[in-house]
Amino acid sequence: MKRGAFVAGTLAATVLVPPRARAADGDAAAAVIDDLVTANRILAHENVVDGFGHVSVRDPQNPNRYRLARSMAPALVTAADIMTYDLDSNALDASGRTSYLERFIHGAIYKVRPDVNAIVHAHTAAVIPFGVSAVRLQPVFHMGAFLGAGVPVFEIRDAGGTATDMLVSSQPLGDALARTLGTANVALMRGHGMVAVAGSIPEAVFRAYYTGQDAQLQADALRLGNPTYLSGDEARRATATQAGLVSRAWDLWKRALR
Ligand code: MN
Repeated sequence: MKRGAFVAGTLAATVLVPPRARAADGDAAAAVIDDLVTANRILAHENVVDGFGHVSVRDPQNPNRYRLARSMAPALVTAADIMTYDLDSNALDASGRTSYLERFIHGAIYKVRPDVNAIVHAHTAAVIPFGVSAVRLQPVFHMGAFLGAGVPVFEIRDAGGTATDMLVSSQPLGDALARTLGTANVALMRGHGMVAVAGSIPEAVFRAYYTGQDAQLQADALRLGNPTYLSGDEARRATATQAGLVSRAWDLWKRALR
């Protein structure tokens, strides 16, 4: 991956920092960019996203900024495509690059959720029925336990009226989506897709992936009839256990990219 340009920029901006700290900061920043590129490619490889959808990370060195690829298909993202935004989703280093129309999803959520450090937005087909029907998405298996925190559905008509193009392409629409998400880990977007949030990039990818799996399984179970869902206690305990197991999935998904 092309780390050179990013590291050079970081060093130029921190000339007063002792050399050893500078190098460590540069390495940490480059590692986050690497993880973000990897997340883009995993989400595409595992069919969570296709040509559309995106993943962002809060800047660990400046919580009022986040990083997100330029407007492009996730599978094709490289380090050179990663841009930096403020929490109003203004690009700080555009250099002629085009931003995703729906970047406001990310900035608006980072603004009100200090616990969130990574966000995935996807149009995963399996979740769409649960955004357009009266059936709530719930945890049907332990891998979807984090859905037990509730899966609110964002109705864009409530904030944008009945004639939007369905995209969260403005600050007010982003703020409305963030309000709908509340303290949940996942929100569905009616007739559009979902947003999954977490404390780290691997965990956000994990949640996006297993939200799609859970939706598929719940639809299957509903066809058989009368599914039993995880209880609130089961969902909470399984979520806590899984927090320590996310890296197993991440390592596997990462290796599959080679
Ligand atoms: Mn979208």
